[in-house]
Amino acid sequence: MEKVVIIGTGCAGLTAALYTARANLAPLVLTGRQPGGLLTTTTIVENFPGFPEGVDGYELVTRMQKQAEKFGARVQFATVDAVDLTQRPFGLTVDGERVEAQTVIIASGAGHRHLGLDSEHALENKGVTYCATCDGALPMFRNQPLVVVGGGDSACEEANYLTRFGAVVYLIHRRDTLRASKVMAERTLANPKIKPIWNAVVTEVLDVKQDKVTGVRVKDVNTGAERVVDCAGVFVAIGHVPNTQIFKGAITMDEAGYIIPQHGQQTNVPGVFVAGDCSDHVYRQAITAAGLGCAAAIEAERYLAGLCG
Ligand code: NAP
Repeated sequence: MEKVVIIGTGCAGLTAALYTARANLAPLVLTGRQPGGLLTTTTIVENFPGFPEGVDGYELVTRMQKQAEKFGARVQFATVDAVDLTQRPFGLTVDGERVEAQTVIIASGAGHRHLGLDSEHALENKGVTYCATCDGALPMFRNQPLVVVGGGDSACEEANYLTRFGAVVYLIHRRDTLRASKVMAERTLANPKIKPIWNAVVTEVLDVKQDKVTGVRVKDVNTGAERVVDCAGVFVAIGHVPNTQIFKGAITMDEAGYIIPQHGQQTNVPGVFVAGDCSDHVYRQAITAAGLGCAAAIEAERYLAGLCG
């Protein structure tokens, strides 16, 4: 039986792994489908303390994993299919196999929010993508007009990154003010290759019949007027949805699916703790996820000490 199972290997999960490993609890750390979490899809992280020159997102989580493994964490490329938190020890179905655990730390993060259009779904990976870092350099996007949807830090970061490849980057936002941090918003609006399209929503991605992206149909939210913006790629950056589906009914969460901690990082089930973007819709930073991962680990350690004592 495992003393600690950590679900997720983003900043929260890997920090929890480091702390529980250093407490000699030999945590089993399950990666899920996206090892390293969303940070691995970021380019340069400029706001993680200790890196004045910035640090590549992938490199940051890789270093965190190495550090946790150095103290005995066991990272396994595996996905949790189901959980039974009604009995002790807890039962987890991991790639079809049962794993038993005295404590569980949920650090399952969040995934990309979709626009919810049929045409978006039909053209996913055929010009529609959710990650500029992953796909921006593909030949199909080179020297082409590109579209980024969203007005937050992610959208701005994607738009700036894509100016390396695209002929022009249209930033389509549903309001007339960016939600992004001031520094990122200023950088974005000062970039001559980025053309904002304000107060506009994408109503259709074209062209499903051709089986590739040729443009987007855009509606002005004030006038209702529609027009087509030609482009070869659509990069959707409109926020995230917490990866908490498997805990529905077992763990208390809000309407959007964010897990609600009850005391510190403990959930409504004693022995189950939570950290990072799956429970945080406010801060959602690498450093806050890491801090919450640390807190969850310390609480798990104390809980286990209580079971023994
Ligand atoms: P976000 O801050 O939640 O922004 C999402 C954007 O998408 C908002 O502008 C929102 O519009 C828009 N949006 C949401 N749903 C939409 C829909 N259905 N259709 C059209 N537009 C929609 O998400 P994020 O940019 O991914 O950032 C998440 C967190 O990570 C933030 O805390 C951010 O600071 C952080 N982050 C930091 C960095 C960095 O520091 N380098 C990089 C990336 C992310 P409204 O503005 O109208 O709500």
